[in-house]
Parts: sequence; C-alpha cells; structure tokens
Amino acid sequence: MAKKQFKAESKKMLDLMIHSVYTHKEIFLREIISNASDALDKLCYRSLTENDTGLSRGDFFIKITADKEKRLLTVSDNGIGMTQEELESNLGVIARSGSSGFKDAIEEEKAKESDINIIGRFGVGFYSAFMVSEEVSVLTRAFGSDKAYLWQSRGADGYTVTEAQRGEAGTDVIMKIKADTPDEKYGEFLETYRLRQLIKKYSDYIRYPIKMDIEKYDTVETDETDEDGKKKTKSEKRIEEETINSMVPIWQRTKAEVSDEECIAYYREKFYDHEDPVKVIRISAEGKVVYKAMLFIPAVAPYDFYTKDFQKGLQLYSNGVLIMEKCEDLLPDYFRFVRGVVDSADISLNISRELLQHDRQLKVIAGYLEKRIKEELVKLKDNEPEKYEKFWSAFGRQLKYGILSDFGMHKDKLIDLLLFHSCELDKPITLKAYRDAMPESQKYIYYACGETVKRAVSIPQAEQVKDKGFDMLCFVNEEDEFVARMLGAFEEKEFRSVNEADLELESDDEKSGIEQQEKDSAELLDFVKETLHGAVSAVKLSRKLKTYAVCLSSEGPVSLEMEKYFNTIPGEEKPKASRVLELNAAHPNFEALKNAFAADRERAEKYVEILYNQALLIAGLPIEDPGRYAELIGSLIQ
Ligand code: ADP
Repeated sequence: MAKKQFKAESKKMLDLMIHSVYTHKEIFLREIISNASDALDKLCYRSLTENDTGLSRGDFFIKITADKEKRLLTVSDNGIGMTQEELESNLGVIARSGSSGFKDAIEEEKAKESDINIIGRFGVGFYSAFMVSEEVSVLTRAFGSDKAYLWQSRGADGYTVTEAQRGEAGTDVIMKIKADTPDEKYGEFLETYRLRQLIKKYSDYIRYPIKMDIEKYDTVETDETDEDGKKKTKSEKRIEEETINSMVPIWQRTKAEVSDEECIAYYREKFYDHEDPVKVIRISAEGKVVYKAMLFIPAVAPYDFYTKDFQKGLQLYSNGVLIMEKCEDLLPDYFRFVRGVVDSADISLNISRELLQHDRQLKVIAGYLEKRIKEELVKLKDNEPEKYEKFWSAFGRQLKYGILSDFGMHKDKLIDLLLFHSCELDKPITLKAYRDAMPESQKYIYYACGETVKRAVSIPQAEQVKDKGFDMLCFVNEEDEFVARMLGAFEEKEFRSVNEADLELESDDEKSGIEQQEKDSAELLDFVKETLHGAVSAVKLSRKLKTYAVCLSSEGPVSLEMEKYFNTIPGEEKPKASRVLELNAAHPNFEALKNAFAADRERAEKYVEILYNQALLIAGLPIEDPGRYAELIGSLIQ
C-alpha cells in the first residue's frame, strides 16, 4: 500500500521527536490522554445538548492497557473519533502548525539542534508518542459513522490509512514501545506502577475516569488443612478495573487541597508556557452567580500576542463540561493576556455563541473577573514590584492600548497600572510616584521622547528641566505620547513634552529678559525664518537650552514624535508638527551668526542652514539634503 507523506513541518517535527534528547519523554502520556479527553468533551457536549448519542456523562471513559510481551501501550477513548478525512488532516499535519511562529520555532530549534524548547514552548501533542514508540497506530471510528480506519506510521517516512473494524465510536492510540537502550528504559512505560504514577502526576484532574486493569491478589482458603487443622490459604489473582485519577478538576478544589505550585504546574502544562505566571487568581463565588474560576497572569507574552492571530478568552465550563475553549466575552480587550478557566452550573450548556454575548450570568462573571484582575494587578504592583515590572514589560503595551481604545473610555480604570521610566531614578515608576515626588514649584509632568532611555535622558531640550531638579519620564514607545495626550493630566498636573516650545520654567524676570532680547534680535530671527523657506513656523530664542546652540520644538497638537510615528504608517494626509527653531542666545554660535548677519549675509545664510540641519539631527529627524550639509560643513574646515 502506498505510503502517504507528511506535510513538511510535520516531518521536521516528527524527526525532532524520533531523535529527541528531551529528558521528559514521559509527557507523551499526558498528551495522548489530553487528546482523548478533548475527544470525550466533544461527544459529551453533544450528548448533553442534542441528546442523540444514547450516552450520558457517566458513560465516557479513557482506558489504558499495557501488553508487556508485545510491548504495546494503548490509550482508548469512547469519544467523538475521527473520519477518514479528519485522520489525514489531523495527524498528517501538526494542528498548531498554522501559525508562522511555530514554523519559525522549529527552524530555530533545529538549527540549535535542541528539541527542549520547542517541546516546552508549544507542547507537541500527538507526535510526542514518537519519542517513546517505534510505531504508532490509531484505530478510530467517528461518531455517526459505521466505518473505522487505521492510521499507522513508523515515523518520518510517511503513514498509511486503511479501513478497519471498531465496535463503537472512539479512538485507540496504540504505541509500540521502543526497545530499551543502555540510556533509556522505555519498558517502564509498560509497567503498571509507572503508568499509575504518570497519570496521578499529569492527568489526575482529567474529568473522565482513566481506567486501568489492575492485577489484584486475594487470599482465599483452600480445602487443605495444616498441622493445626486450620485451612490453608493461597493467593488468587484477579483483574479489577480501577479508576486511577481523582477526576476533580483543579479549579474545583479548595486552596487547602491544591497549592499554588500545583496550579502553576497545571498552567504550564495546559497553556504551554515555559515560565511561571506572575499571579494565580482563584475564585469561588457564591453570590448572584455561583462559579469557580482559576485565572493566570502570564509573565511573558506568547509569540503571537501582538498579532491578529492571538485569540483572547477563557475556557468556559458548565458544571465540568467544556462549552467553549476561548470565551472572549469573559475578558475585556485590555486584559486579553489573562488565561484560565471559568466553571459555572449557572451557565446553560445549550447556549449558543450568539446568545452567550447577551447572557446575564456571563456578564456578571465577566464584570467581577475584570474587577478582580485589576485588584490583583494593583496588589502585585504594590507588593511585588519586580514581578510587576516583568509583567509590565510583557503586557504594558496592551494596557496602554487599552487607554487609547474606545476614545479613552477605560482610562480611569487603567491609569494606576501604568509604568513609565523615570529619568531621575532610572527605573520604571507609576504616575503616582512621579506626582508625589514633584516639588511644589513644578507645574507640569515633564516627559522626553527617544528611541531608547539613553537618548531620551540626554536630549538637549531637557537641560533646563533637569537643572531645576525636576524628574522627567522617558517615553520610549511610540504609543507613550499618545497615552499622555489621552490622559491629559494626572491628579491635575498636565503632561508636557520637553520638546514643546514653552516649558514655562523661567521666572517672570527671566521671561521678560528673553522677551526683550527677542525684540532686539527681531530682524535676525526674521532673517533666519525667511532663509529656511517655510521649513519652520517660528524662530525663537530658547528658554531651555544651555550647552547646545539649537534645537527643534513644536507648537500645537502634533508633536515631532507623533509626526515621526505618522510617517511610519500608511496614509495620504500625514499630520505634521508645527516646527519651532530655537536658538540659544548664550551660545558662541549665536554670536557668530549675529556677526555674519551684520557683515556677510551669504555666510549668515550658510550658518542658518547648518544650524537648522543640526537641530534636525538632534531631534532624530532626517535632513533633507545630507550631501549639501556635508559640503557646508566642509567649506568651514579650511
Ligand atoms: P492538538 O491536540 O493540540 O490539536 P495533536 O497533534 O495532539 O494537537 O492532535 C491533532 C488532532 O488530532 C487533534 O486536534 C484532534 O482533532 C485529533 N485527535 C488526536 N487524538 C484524538 C482522539 N483520541 N480522538 C479524536 N481526535 C483526536
């Protein structure tokens, strides 16, 4: 029979599995059992909603059988099963391979010749069976079909699918366990004690019974008697089917029964995270709606978090029956990083996706969860700042988007979760901390924009602010300034960019001094503006420069940083900042310009051009004609 080939990524994945050096090969059992449980979920859900299966909740099970002689380990379920097409499409391709992140990760790990990360990062599902098996067979019959099929593969060279027989709907995954090697004792996966151990360790919470045939020995009396006339006994073997797992899902258990560590272990396995979450939230609500929830706040963003591939949502159960893998309505967008489970008997099993959106119970739950998540984040920020900073670096951007979304509707809820880098303290701080440290005389919350903290800290425009002993927030992400604009103010103090033309730092005396100077230099300033042919909307004497000769600032609603951002996104009409060229009257360059203006206009024009280009460079903006700029500078070095 012709062998069919695996899809390219699946083949690579299989290769990786077969030659795996992964030390936790035992996880294959968890993966296979988890698939069986999913298949049971599907049929169980159907049984309860459509009533057409003839089965009820208690009929579903997983059975594990080991045949040591033949070295066969079988995991069976009476779940939904697979049709021939499903067999091909589900087992011929890795389910998660749809995302490009996954393909990249395979390439990455292959290049490093390490399988550890990929297994940890993605979980590998069905293919992990190949870590311990030389051949894997899947005998399956889809619910509602009278045909069964057998899928068989020994690895990367392909697989076959043939028609077969199976009494009822369900699936058997039959693994031919590899021969032992000096390093690996694969035979242990056929030992009852070891299988029991693994089921307890990884699959105890599966909500269907995981059964095994266990050999039991009874002591029975024989007809013979001993010297004292007592009946002799003998040991008699019998086989008893035993349910190995406790079947109580982890979120249904009390805090006394399950430690946070166990919840974390569950999270890592269930959600394929290689890092512990920063927070586990456990809720047992007895109010208007009765439900249990277990939520996790991850420490790192999944690779696709900031793409449209990422789907938010919590698993939704109705009394232990899975209704939905990702129920979006349970989480607001700005908390879309939260993962976990909600289980409530008050949510109807039969509810459709459309109706769910309007479900009153669900709204009550969602409302409470949002409140709790917010509270827990605030607590984390106050009590475990290091953890919070880690969280912030992964998901801070999401919270900032939350502030910007829906016309700023959620800003009050999110404002105290924000962190920005303090220039003074060189670490992220809250707006509250910044505000509390502001001296009496400071009118505004100052911020500086830059691609990096280093650049933001050292921008020339900030010299006066720093001189006054005022702290500055460093805005290093493109959304930061938009967030400040959206917030407008924090506790009555407005945000002000150090790039703005007027920082209102000077005293009244200083102010009138500069105004007088400006009047005196009016002719020169006009000349500078004219020379620049409309590139700037105003030329002023700077109120904030000290060591630098020039800088650019802006007036009006669009800042220079915003203009840079608008330039990066497609669109016809890009908003432009209204540019102001500031000249430092105390700088020798200004003196030189003044002299040239009086004696040699051509030379003065050159100075203006150079100074303007320098201002552009300092602001991180492109200069229009770099060749001409180099020429101008060159002409001075003679
Ligand atoms: P995942 O479980 O993440 O989807 P797997 O590689 O483990 O990825 O499984 C691929 C697919 O094969 C599953 O999504 C499911 O559709 C199907 N499958 C696996 N095991 C079973 C089973 N026991 N019963 C029915 N379908 C199964």
